[in-house]
Amino acid sequence: AIDFKWIRDNKEAVAANINNRNFNANLDLVLELYDKLLNLQKEVERLRAERNAVANKMKAKLEPSERQKLIEEGKTLKDGLVTLEEDLLKLTDELQQQAQCVPNMTHPDVPIGGEECSTVRKTVGKPREFSFSIKDHVQLGKDLDLFDFDAAAEVSGSKFYYLKNEAVLLEMGLVNWAVSEVMKRGFTPLTTPEIVRSSLVEKCGFQPRGTNTQVYSIEGSDQCLIGTAEIPVGGIHMDSILAESSLPLKYVAYSHCFRTEAGAAGSATRGLYRVHQFSKVEMFVLCRPDESNFFHEQLIEIEEGLFSSLGLHFKTMDMATQDLGAPAYRKFDVEAWMPGLGRYGEISSASNCTDYQSRRLGIRYRPEVSTPAKKGIKGNSATTQFVHTLNATACAVPRMIVCLLENYQQEDGSIVIPEPLRPFMGGLQIIAPK
Ligand code: AMP
Repeated sequence: AIDFKWIRDNKEAVAANINNRNFNANLDLVLELYDKLLNLQKEVERLRAERNAVANKMKAKLEPSERQKLIEEGKTLKDGLVTLEEDLLKLTDELQQQAQCVPNMTHPDVPIGGEECSTVRKTVGKPREFSFSIKDHVQLGKDLDLFDFDAAAEVSGSKFYYLKNEAVLLEMGLVNWAVSEVMKRGFTPLTTPEIVRSSLVEKCGFQPRGTNTQVYSIEGSDQCLIGTAEIPVGGIHMDSILAESSLPLKYVAYSHCFRTEAGAAGSATRGLYRVHQFSKVEMFVLCRPDESNFFHEQLIEIEEGLFSSLGLHFKTMDMATQDLGAPAYRKFDVEAWMPGLGRYGEISSASNCTDYQSRRLGIRYRPEVSTPAKKGIKGNSATTQFVHTLNATACAVPRMIVCLLENYQQEDGSIVIPEPLRPFMGGLQIIAPK
C-alpha cells in the first residue's frame, strides 16, 4: 500500500528527497508505471463489467443462436481478462520493484549530506585517561583467553569468532541485563525466528537480493537469515488492523543477526568490530503517527541511560540524509569511545521509520471515535490508518564487548566488570589473567 498518488502529487519534494539521500531511484519510471497500472486497472474493471452484463443476459430466455452468440462473447471477454490480469500482476510487481528504490521522506531537521554532515546531539562523559600503555580488545582477549578467531576462520571463514571463558558470561550477562532493563520500561520481551521469508525482508525496506546485499539468502528457498530482529518483530502484526487502545506496542527482542558486510572491505574490521554473526537486543515500537517523534526521543533516552549506566563515553548523532538508508525518516546513532581502537565507533542506532514499513507490511489501526453522535452505535466505522514503526538497539553485543574491554582494562591486563552487569554474571567483578 505505497501511496503512489501522494508521490505523484508531491513529485518535486520526492525528487529532492531522493537527491538529498543520494538514492538511485527512477521517479519518472515509477510514475509512468503507476499511470499504466491505473489505466490497466480501469480496463480490467471495464471488461469485468461487460462479462457480468453478458452473464446477466444469459439468465433470460433466449433463442439458441442468441445464446450461442453470448457464449462466444463471454469466452472472448474471459480470455481477454485472463491476459490483462496477468499483465496487471506483472506491472504491479515491476512497480513494487522500482518503488523499493524510493526512500522514506525525511524529518525537516535532519542535516543534508554525507556522514560527515551528521551533527552531535549530545555528549556524555569524557575519554578515560590511562596512566599505562593500553591494549586493544583483540590483544586483551588474546591475553585473557576470551576469543578464538583462528579456529573460527578455519570453521566458518573470516569475521567469525568463538567467545571463550568469561567472554561467554559477558555476552549472556549483557543480553540479560539489556532485556531486563528495557522490560522495566514496559516493553514485551521476545525471541524471534532467525530465518524469515525474503518478502518480509523486502517489506521492511531491506534488499534481500542483488550483488551488494547485506542479506544472506538461503539457496533454493524464498528465505533469508535475519540481519536484525527488527524484521521478524515487524512481521508479527503484518496484515492486521490494531485497536487504537492497544497502541503503543513496545517490544524488546533478542536475536542473532547475520550480515554479509558486502562492501565493508577497508573499513574497521579488526576483531569483534565488524563480524558476520552477532547477538543483539533490539527495541521496536508501533504507535500512532502523531506519537512517533515522541517515541523516537524516548528510545534514544533509553539507549543513553543504558550506556551511561555502564560508564561509557559517547556522542549521540543526528545522522545526515545520506546515512539514513531507505526506511528511516530520522536516525540517531550512538558512537562510543573505544580507546584501544583509538576512535569512536557506532554502538547503536535508533530510527523512526514513520509509515514506510507499515505501508508495505499492511499494519493499520482503527482510530477510536468518541464524538457524541457516535455514542451508542455498535462497532466503529472510522477509517483505518497506518501505524508508525520505530527500532533502536539496546545492546549489540560484540561492539559492547569492544567498549567494555578497552575502557575497563587495568594495568595488569585485567578487566573490571561495570557494577550493573555483575548480578547478570554470577557476581563476577573482574576478569583476571589466568
Ligand atoms: P544497524 O541495524 O545496522 O543499525 O546496527 C545496529 C547495531 O548493530 C550497530 O550500531 C552496531 O553496534 C551493531 N552492528 C552492526 N553491524 C555489525 C557487525 N557487522 N558486526 C558487529 N556489530 C554490528
